[in-house]
Amino acid sequence: MEPLVRLIPLGGLGEIGLNMMLLESGDDLIAVDCGLMFPGDDLPGIDYVIPDFSYALAKPDALRAVFLTHGHEDHIGALPYLLKRARVPVYGSPLTVALVAEKLREHDLGDVTLHAIRPHDRIEVGPFTVEPLRVTHSIADGVGLAISTPVGVIVHTGDFKLDPTPLDGELPDYDAFSALGDQGVIVLCSDSTNVDRPGHTPSESEVGLALAERFAPARGRIIVATFASHIHRIQQILRLAARFERRVALLGRSMERNVRIAADLGYLTLPDDVVVPLEELAEMPPARQVILSTGSQGEPNSALALMAAGEHKYFEVGRGDLVILSSRVIPGNERTVSRIINGLYRRGAEVLYEDNAFVHVSGHASQEDLKLMLNLTRPRYFVPVHGEYRHLLGHARLAAEVGLGPDRVFLMEDGAALEVTKSAATVVGGIPAGRVLVDGKGVGDVGPVVLRDRELLAEEGIIAVAIVLDAKGEIVSGPTLASRGVVYVKENEALLDELRLAVRRALDEMDSVERRDREALSDRIRSAVRRFVNQRFQRKPVVLPLILEA
Ligand SMILES: [Zn+2]
Ligand SMILES: [Zn+2]
Repeated sequence: MEPLVRLIPLGGLGEIGLNMMLLESGDDLIAVDCGLMFPGDDLPGIDYVIPDFSYALAKPDALRAVFLTHGHEDHIGALPYLLKRARVPVYGSPLTVALVAEKLREHDLGDVTLHAIRPHDRIEVGPFTVEPLRVTHSIADGVGLAISTPVGVIVHTGDFKLDPTPLDGELPDYDAFSALGDQGVIVLCSDSTNVDRPGHTPSESEVGLALAERFAPARGRIIVATFASHIHRIQQILRLAARFERRVALLGRSMERNVRIAADLGYLTLPDDVVVPLEELAEMPPARQVILSTGSQGEPNSALALMAAGEHKYFEVGRGDLVILSSRVIPGNERTVSRIINGLYRRGAEVLYEDNAFVHVSGHASQEDLKLMLNLTRPRYFVPVHGEYRHLLGHARLAAEVGLGPDRVFLMEDGAALEVTKSAATVVGGIPAGRVLVDGKGVGDVGPVVLRDRELLAEEGIIAVAIVLDAKGEIVSGPTLASRGVVYVKENEALLDELRLAVRRALDEMDSVERRDREALSDRIRSAVRRFVNQRFQRKPVVLPLILEA
């Protein structure tokens, strides 16, 4: 029989985040990445969103390994939840697996086998041979993957940009990608995040030069907020601090942790004595202070948010201070970031951010870089990955510009699979690939009904009505009312008394036989409360009748 390989995206095709792609050959599966997504406003109270693993775990022992392209949460964040259900070996570059190890310890998964791999290692797993290839990105030690399969070589770029002057000197491996192109690539899966941006994505080194121009004239404190995973950006800030004879305090748990891990592994060089404890920095004159902080996305309890609100324990931001938000604002976070920028300006600080200054470059390839990747690898088939539908579509159109006809480009979303033989490729549907919600210890137990309740509670508030009945259906006590989020009780006691009376009247209209029907009784309470509140306030709170028996 002709060999057949299936590419099965469980997440990341149709959204930014949740990246996970399965490769299937016969009874064997491997996964590329296992990421999470942070929930938007439409998912109140949800901590994380993770992919639906059911296809990967349907057949016991079918999933042979997970290969990680880099250490961002949208690529590694769902791993603990997968590993709790199946102890699969995990492969990734040294920095990536070090970040994963820390995460697994937090989830009591210390016994999972993690394999550190380097570019050009070849790892054989069942019918697959996986070779990591160096790419540049906004976290150090990122790789793409060349995966030899029974139908040919599949190249997955991971998240990448083509940085000609990367900070660590680890150039993207143009030669390897082009050699693969010479040998023949059957499918290319490539990062679509920045497909809307013309030209090339600038080098990380250029941000360093731009930041130096900001550091040089600064006379007050400098506060830089960036992603804790952006090791190279952090490196540049540390070097600049040393160069301008400043000291740096690290703020934020993830910032401290990542700097420690990256320095231990040699991905980060700490200039002598430049990093000092927070208390020590606070004693120095502002002109010698650099604060390197998380909170660039407006996270409400971050050090940056506290400083913007004037509530930080050690630092009061004021006139003469320079705050640099050296990061992109992730869509959905604009409002919270705005609030922080306004707060900082109000305190007299100068604020630089992506819209008003060159203080950040992206970690993703722009149009010309993406075309170059297509031209280097010259794939038979192309699948845009890592993007919302508009990004995937844009990337498909870009591929058309470099000559890939529509029969060779597959615009797929999660839930579909690409079946590839040596001579053909077709999309099939019907793969379970939903979004699984994680809230505290619960994985997948919060569904649409619970979310709808949370929205209602948030929007309309709740009124609880308790009554106590005896066995004959006579009211022994109550109704007693409690409300949250509807009216301010202390100022509205008279109103609540009226409401209590209205409920009481409605109950008195029922005879004791009717009152023994719990359902009817609850309905009567609900409609009495709703009618009253609607007439007085035009609001529709959740009404919760509590019927107790004496
Ligand atoms: Zn990434
Ligand atoms: Zn990503």
